[in-house]
Amino acid sequence: MGPVARASSYMANVLFPRGCAGCDRPDEILCSECRVLFDCGLSQTLETATMGRWFACGWYRGAARQAILSWKDHGDEECERPFSVALCSLAERVGLPDHLGGASRDRVLIVPAPSSLASMRQRGRRHMMPLATGLASYLRERTGMRVRACEALENKGTAGRSVETGGTAQRSQRLKGRIVVREKFLLKDKAVILVDDIVTSGTTMRRCIDALSLGGAEVVTALSLAHTPAGRPAKAGRHFSSEI
Ligand SMILES: [Zn+2]
Repeated sequence: MGPVARASSYMANVLFPRGCAGCDRPDEILCSECRVLFDCGLSQTLETATMGRWFACGWYRGAARQAILSWKDHGDEECERPFSVALCSLAERVGLPDHLGGASRDRVLIVPAPSSLASMRQRGRRHMMPLATGLASYLRERTGMRVRACEALENKGTAGRSVETGGTAQRSQRLKGRIVVREKFLLKDKAVILVDDIVTSGTTMRRCIDALSLGGAEVVTALSLAHTPAGRPAKAGRHFSSEI
C-alpha cells in the first residue's frame, strides 16, 4: 500500500470506524458474541458422503445471518478471516483430519458450491474461494496430505440470488441438472470436501455431490457456515439435529 492509499485508509478508519458485521458493535470485524454463533456445530445425515453427515457452523438467523449477508453481498471481505477460522474449527471438531488421514488417496480437494455466473458478476468476486483455500491449508498442515482448493464445479443455472426466495420445489427445479464439473477437472480417485456459505433445503448441496460423484470423486462431507432449515428456522429441531 502506497503512502496515499495508507493515508486514505487511515482517514476512512478515523472518520468511519467499522462495526461488527453481525451486530454493529464498534471497532470489531466480528465481535466475540457473534463469533460464538458460528460455533454451534450442527450436523445432519448425508448418505452420499463417506462421513455419512454434513456439518454447519451455526444457524442462518439473527446476527449470524446479518454477518453473512455483509460479507457475501455487501463486500465486507474482512469477514473472510473469522469465517475461515469458523470453518476450520468445525472441521477439527467433527474429526475431519482423522477421517482423511485414515485413507490413502491421491489428493484431497476442497470444492466450493458454485454461484451462478450472474451472482458472481454481481458480487465481483468468488466469495467462497478464500474460505476453501483457508481450509485446504489448515488440512494440509494438519494431515500432511496433498490438499488444495479448486473450483471444480460450475453453476449453469439462472441467478438464484437470494436463498429466501422460492419454495424448495421451485428451487430444486431451477437448479436441476445445472451444476456440472468443469471439463478440465479430473476427479477420479480424488477425495472431495464440499464447502458452501448457506445450506437451506440441501438441494444445491445434493446436486453438487451428484455432479462430483458422477465425475468419479469420493465425497467425504460438506461443510457450511450456516444452515436455514426449510420452513421456520426458529423451530427447526425436528428437521435438523445438533448431534456433535
Ligand atoms: Zn457482533
